[in-house]
Amino acid sequence: RQLAFRSDIGALLEQVGTGKESLSFMKRRMRRLAAQWASAARRLAAQWASAARRLDDSLRSQWKEQKRILVHVGFLTEEAGDVFSPKVLKGGPLGEMVQWADILTALHVLGHNLKISVSLKELQGFLGVPPGRGSCPLTGPLPFDLIYTDYHGLQQMRQHMGLSLRKHKCHIRVIDTFGTEPAYNHEDYATLHGYRTNWGYWNLNCRQYMTMFPHTPDNSFMGFVAEELNDTERLSIQRNKVDSMAVVYGKEASMWKVHMNWLDLILLLSTLIEFPLTLNSFELQGKEKFLAILHRYMEIHGTVYYETQRPPEVPAFVKNHGLLPQQELQQLLRKAKLFIGFGFPYEGPAPLEAIANGCIFLQPKFKPSHSSLNHEFFRGKPTSRQVSSQHPYAEQYIGRPHVITVDFNNSQEFESAIRDIMRTKVEPYLPYEYTCEGMLERLHAYIQNQEFCAPKAQFPSANASNSWPGSPPSPFVLLPNSSVLAWASNISTPPSWPPLSALRLLASLEGQSCVEACQSAGLICEPAFYRFINIKEAFSGLEVQCEGVEAEMNHIFPAFSVERSECGLQKDALLFSCAGANAKYHRLCPCRDYRKGQVALCRDCL
Ligand code: UDP
Repeated sequence: RQLAFRSDIGALLEQVGTGKESLSFMKRRMRRLAAQWASAARRLAAQWASAARRLDDSLRSQWKEQKRILVHVGFLTEEAGDVFSPKVLKGGPLGEMVQWADILTALHVLGHNLKISVSLKELQGFLGVPPGRGSCPLTGPLPFDLIYTDYHGLQQMRQHMGLSLRKHKCHIRVIDTFGTEPAYNHEDYATLHGYRTNWGYWNLNCRQYMTMFPHTPDNSFMGFVAEELNDTERLSIQRNKVDSMAVVYGKEASMWKVHMNWLDLILLLSTLIEFPLTLNSFELQGKEKFLAILHRYMEIHGTVYYETQRPPEVPAFVKNHGLLPQQELQQLLRKAKLFIGFGFPYEGPAPLEAIANGCIFLQPKFKPSHSSLNHEFFRGKPTSRQVSSQHPYAEQYIGRPHVITVDFNNSQEFESAIRDIMRTKVEPYLPYEYTCEGMLERLHAYIQNQEFCAPKAQFPSANASNSWPGSPPSPFVLLPNSSVLAWASNISTPPSWPPLSALRLLASLEGQSCVEACQSAGLICEPAFYRFINIKEAFSGLEVQCEGVEAEMNHIFPAFSVERSECGLQKDALLFSCAGANAKYHRLCPCRDYRKGQVALCRDCL
């Protein structure tokens, strides 16, 4: 069957089913954004029609092949405890449901043949596995080309599909909000080297994990969408913005945790003594201090869930609307000038929605960064990623004037940020990768090009005879010349995606990861290219003196130590890692270019 865009979501809504608050939330979102998806599909259809004319017949039909796709939302199943559904109306996390709703809509709109399961029974039915507990191996061929699930779903498939998961796992994609790094994903390595967590160790190709934001490029960036505005809406936002109106990010009372007595005392004293003096005379950290400052300048609004009484954690001067339906939250954001984070929740969709509605997002810088090593929330998550602020994507990819990241404990810095925000005029802004068109483009590119079922690529050992022909041109940046490309294409079956023309080889600084090294050259680390640079000629190409070249299972490799004249290649493809870093080593980094606003794709990727 050939793909054809669908602009009507009626059939999808029926498939999603009923009976859970989480499903109703997702359906409300699907309905609300249906027109936006349909118009994105129309624009892409026109673009693709002209692109398809340039392809030959066989490529064109491959490009437009409809896939059989199963979406199994593990965390919503009763068997996984379904802790989220009862909290949908009570301020619980909604980010995951936002993302699943958008993934389902995107797959439907792209025209794939979709089956959706939110229970073990449905999963077994779709897979043709006999019901009941224990391992009941799926004997026949897998009736799907692709399965999107999450860590809960993966566990359920292991339990209820028995051993055959090993055979079929290359078809699986795991929606994994915060990401999984290679050292945690490799079962034996994680166990031996202290990277074992409750989640990781599935021995997948790390690009099969799909994240909510582009964290480490070891994973694929799936994302979600935010609301897009038409010209009339933009104009009306411009007219109705209230410069002195702030909305606080956080729908659960526990996110506020304000010490009321302190706050009352500060506010009382500030009427008696000059304001900054009052603050400086207290060794206060935390929310009392910056709420007091904010309150001096702006009217503060909140959307904190409550049942009957106003939540005691929320100060009286805050106008609390209670948890709002998404649509009403958007209306509030259209009026507000400032959307302010208190440090939690981490990396949710709401700041992007606020920025898309013309707010400035003010958030705390974390010093030191939060990570699985020092923060309860991240403990046990399969990543060592250093989270530098409440929303690192907003900080790094959007930045000023839409995003301001400051140390909230520094009252002066905080206060001057508030003043700046009230003065600054900003336009609503949404990065292309978070528009419907951007998400459809990215997801389609993944579905058509990411291949994890092909036989394992062969790559050379330390003393392999494969050699890099010719002498590479520059000591630090190796631009692949045509002979290198010819060499690499020889070992690249099927042809590489992203295409090899995008490859740039860099050496990182000591202690720097390839994520950082590529970023500092305006590029992005591309794990799919590691197999091409994991050769001893890459060291000589960078004019690195190696006394010997060893191949080892070490997620830092390929890398070299200048001090010890030591060079190491990677022995196990599963351990190729953009995220890995070690104070004593320079890493060899395969970088590539990326499209502005669509970091998942290189210029020649489409
Ligand atoms: N949201 C909502 N009503 C509110 C506050 C937030 O519907 O009063 C929605 C918001 O539109 C966003 C979603 O909740 O899409 C998740 O937001 P958040 O960034 O808080 O992430 P979470 O921690 O819930 O995953």
